Amino acid sequence: MNRKSLIAAAFTLALLATVPFFTSNSYYVHMIETIMIYAIVLFGLDIVVGYTGQVSLGHAGLFGVGSYTAGVLFMKLGAPLWLIIPGSIGVTAGFGALLALPALRVTGPYLAMVTLAFGTIIQILINEMTFLTEGPLGIKIPKPSLFGAQLDEKGFYWLVLALMALSLVVVHRILRSQLGRAFEALRGSPVASDCMGVSVYRYKVYAFVISAGFAGLAGCLYAYSEQYISPNTYNFEVTVLFLLAVIMGGRKSRLGSLLGATIIVMLPMLLDDLAIFRVVASTIAVLMAIGGAVGIAKKRTTLQAMAIPIVGTLALAGFAFWLNSITDWRLSIFGLMILFVVYYLQDGIVGFARSLLVRRNPGSADERISTQAGTGQDAVRVASSTGATGDELLVAKNVLMQFGGLKALNNVDLSIRRGSIHGLIGPNGSGKSTMMNVLTGIYVPTAGSISFDGRSVVGRTSSDIALSGIARTFPNVQLFGEMTTLQNILVGLHHSFASNILDVALHSPRYLREDAAATERGLGLLRFVGLTELAAEEARNLPYGKQRLLEIARALALDPQLLLLDEPAAGLTAPDIVELIAIIRKIRDHGITVILIEHHMDVVMELCDTVSVLDFGQKIAEGKPADVQADEKVIEAYLGGTTA
Ligand code: ADP
Ligand code: MG
Repeated sequence: MNRKSLIAAAFTLALLATVPFFTSNSYYVHMIETIMIYAIVLFGLDIVVGYTGQVSLGHAGLFGVGSYTAGVLFMKLGAPLWLIIPGSIGVTAGFGALLALPALRVTGPYLAMVTLAFGTIIQILINEMTFLTEGPLGIKIPKPSLFGAQLDEKGFYWLVLALMALSLVVVHRILRSQLGRAFEALRGSPVASDCMGVSVYRYKVYAFVISAGFAGLAGCLYAYSEQYISPNTYNFEVTVLFLLAVIMGGRKSRLGSLLGATIIVMLPMLLDDLAIFRVVASTIAVLMAIGGAVGIAKKRTTLQAMAIPIVGTLALAGFAFWLNSITDWRLSIFGLMILFVVYYLQDGIVGFARSLLVRRNPGSADERISTQAGTGQDAVRVASSTGATGDELLVAKNVLMQFGGLKALNNVDLSIRRGSIHGLIGPNGSGKSTMMNVLTGIYVPTAGSISFDGRSVVGRTSSDIALSGIARTFPNVQLFGEMTTLQNILVGLHHSFASNILDVALHSPRYLREDAAATERGLGLLRFVGLTELAAEEARNLPYGKQRLLEIARALALDPQLLLLDEPAAGLTAPDIVELIAIIRKIRDHGITVILIEHHMDVVMELCDTVSVLDFGQKIAEGKPADVQADEKVIEAYLGGTTA
């Protein structure tokens, strides 16, 4: 958190803490309490929706599991608060795992359906399991006591505030750690995540379980807050409201979650009371006009882009004053608001305000980044191995890869010597990239064997293969676009963390040590490829040539024994290619074996010790670069057509 957000958060929390002193009306205290409880759900839901990019329509169900765990523990066992809170979190996280393990094998609309079904089943179960839940009758729970003292409405309000603040800190720490980076990475590029040793499936499940834990905490507090729970509370409407709140407030933002929670709690009131609706509609119109004017003046947006939002909100304000009664219009206004959000506020209120008011490039916002001297050579490491230079590091035999009737690889043998740069060339569609995908577990070969460092690769997951020492880049650069350059490298360094979620939440010495070491090493790798200046820039904003270098640095973060480069020079300018050649050579000098797919023959000739040539999925030649270049078959199939 940078200083400004830290001050804003502290100020907001302090303000919330004073609320009970200002009003003796318990209605308002209870309302703000509800907002804070919803905010805890949304902090968790944002991990799933905002960071991993998955949809969950099951969070009302999880919220219900939290409430009912609290209710049942109290009613059946008379358990105290300090047992009920961890109990609710644990049980709900367990249900989250139960949902996530099968559900996250699917994505998109299927995932939405599965989570929706889960929510419905939970509601039915609560209704039917009367021996445990009292069914439709519901459960009554009085306010809890803490340290022997019975909490009143105000005391409980402060407890909720304290737990929300704690949740805020924990969520923030999780998202800033290697866990949060894994969540963001799998959204940015699933295939690159897996190939960096960050298992997409495992971290999706992990995100879901953590998210469920927060829903459990919130559900538990909700039960005490309402003092009565019944199955109807946890219905489909609530699930949609949660999702709407995350999107409307702004994903990947704690402030957004708080705003979203405020909106969904206040909405019914807003749409019930014409006077309040008028005040809010005019406030929004004024804010939109001011924000728009500032944005246009600072050239962050254009008049065209702002015209409809400004006119729209002004019209809404005018409409509010024209209305005599709001009751008939409630649903129409609600519908319009949703449409407006979907069309104009895809990054939510926080994202929209940021785009207008905050400078886009954060510069060196990350205080940890300093531009130390050095070449970064020491940051390049190779995992220890028993083999010696010149041994066979990778042996592929009779590899067959069939897509329907097409044999993309047809009985290909490949033997890569440790410490060499091995070229793989051939015309487009000859099977070079398919070979890389087979070696990295993206495809499982139809037949054949592949052994790497004495172990078979076939049938293992991409992340497992990556962790055993094969790193790669992709023909179409696969970076984590919304993450900074340094964060991209840190995803590659994920394997260097042994800290678990408790270490992360508590900032244990182990986590702090690992985090500092990874940052240091990451900066070293950036220096190695000459990207230190761009450490705090989002990867998607880098020039193309730099993106390719970043991808190589990220692959090096795995401490690979073998590095696969798939057309690294494609699309690069001549000076960039010179730089690239120097970098590849330095990588080999560190003892890392390289397989290089490349169309630029000068690069291949200059770097490679051995070259294999593929044509229509078959190996047609192999040998020293000069011999291969002179080979009749190679000239006919490939070189004659492309380099002459
Ligand atoms: P290149 O040598 O240009 O990298 P590729 O390995 O990408 O060639 O492709 C080899 C052949 O395999 C092409 O004909 C391509 O269309 C086909 N191919 C590659 N991946 C798939 C896939 N997932 N499904 C079907 N066909 C594929
Ligand atoms: Mg290719």
